[in-house]
Amino acid sequence: MPNVYHLFEEGAGKGSTFIQDASGRALYSYKDIDTVTARYANLLRQRGVEPGDRVMVQVEKSPECLLFYLACLRAGSIYLPLNTAYKTEELAYFIENAEPSMILCDPNSEQQFAALSDAAILTMDAAGTGTVDDDLEAQPTSFLTHDCRDDDVAVIIYTSGTTGRPKGAMVTHNNIYSNTCTLSACWDWQANDVMLHALPIFHVHGLFVASHLPIMNGSPITLLGRFNAMEVITLLPQSTVYMGVPTNYTRLLAEPSLGSDACRNMRLFTSGSAPLLNQTFEAFQQRTGHTIVERYGMSETGMNTSNPVHGPRKAGTVGLPLPGVDCRIVGDDGSTLTPGLTGQLELKGPNVFKGYWRMPEKTAEEFSADGYFRTGDLAMEDEEQYISIVGRDKDLIISGGLNIYPKEIETHLNSLDGIQESAVIGLPDTDFGEAVAAIVVPDGSEKLSPDGVVAAVKDRMANFKLPKHVYFIAELPRNAMGKVQKNKLREQFSAD
Ligand code: AMP
Repeated sequence: MPNVYHLFEEGAGKGSTFIQDASGRALYSYKDIDTVTARYANLLRQRGVEPGDRVMVQVEKSPECLLFYLACLRAGSIYLPLNTAYKTEELAYFIENAEPSMILCDPNSEQQFAALSDAAILTMDAAGTGTVDDDLEAQPTSFLTHDCRDDDVAVIIYTSGTTGRPKGAMVTHNNIYSNTCTLSACWDWQANDVMLHALPIFHVHGLFVASHLPIMNGSPITLLGRFNAMEVITLLPQSTVYMGVPTNYTRLLAEPSLGSDACRNMRLFTSGSAPLLNQTFEAFQQRTGHTIVERYGMSETGMNTSNPVHGPRKAGTVGLPLPGVDCRIVGDDGSTLTPGLTGQLELKGPNVFKGYWRMPEKTAEEFSADGYFRTGDLAMEDEEQYISIVGRDKDLIISGGLNIYPKEIETHLNSLDGIQESAVIGLPDTDFGEAVAAIVVPDGSEKLSPDGVVAAVKDRMANFKLPKHVYFIAELPRNAMGKVQKNKLREQFSAD
């Protein structure tokens, strides 16, 4: 079954309602998947999009966007989702790097994309309508699903690099196929499950995990445009599965109406994308009677580990390696460490991506000689093989479940008049997990203020990357090798 669309087609054969809105009104049935994706796929072909061509998508979440994604898989073109927060400078890089044949964007950004690319441009708004509909009715309602090879690329997900330049992780049809089947079995997906979906669908968590699992099983999805704690709590009684980032759980807990009654029909709560604090895990258990299943994954690999659905779920751990995923923790010399010791987490398995788009050297660097992917995460295993993520080798900040690499922000800050240099770090934040903080060394030529610094870089990057705190210091602490000691800065400013 090389084209993973067949897996979803099989699931669709088992289901009735595919997507419903918050009021429970069915918007699409599973029967609709065949005809709607056929129309979109025919439209792609009509506009010259061939198998292997990149289709870049930056639109608001809608049922139609999810169907358009399935159509891209079906047509064998490469789906390339982008965070809706990305701005011109970031988009220009993605376009130059990915060379898309087609762009699907919000009507408000059509002009912006047209100025950046010669690709065919279609629009889709938050209601799922736009120029994408112009010729849609005229398209045939059948389409011969593209016959691909296992290692054909299905999706490219851009993840930020330590160099500040995002890298396109090439995820294959087989990566998606194997990871979806494995998770469905591990999480014991039930025929009557109803998915409450409040995650963005430009990221693996919302697109792969929270969408693929219900589709593969023909389960209804209640699709919410974005996360709103009160709306989620109101809809929990009609749902059985909820997946969130830790920030979603802290926000749910902040609502007094979250309790066991709201969760009476729930079967499974999962958390991932960033560390779940023990206090959140415990508070959720006490308030609702449900124990969150924490799992660990990344764009390059899909899901790697999970706490068990049938078995102890340990707070502060990301659980056990999923079947077929080979996890090892190695020391600086590459030797495998014994339980209790912290080292680099490396992985091998059918879920591990094919490499970074047009970056063969970068890809080679990230794999060991015996083919393990170096995650960049620091981990520790206990005697029962439960894994804890204890830190990050790479300098990543995760704020509200979104990854931010300091280097990119530092580059912008350092280019401003009045700034000699800067160091960007993550500081603990009860709402976002981590908040971006910029430690700035002024050169004395300008009068700087925290608000002024943020305003000066505001238009150059997505809002979620903007510093939430700006501190000024005379000199950055450095080690003997001249590397900025960010751990010292974290200590100093966390206390602040
Ligand atoms: P992304 O590619 O955006 O999905 O980010 C992947 C990174 O998120 C991983 O390399 C980890 O650093 C982090 N991550 C994902 N899940 C967890 C988790 N449950 N606990 C701690 N960190 C996590």
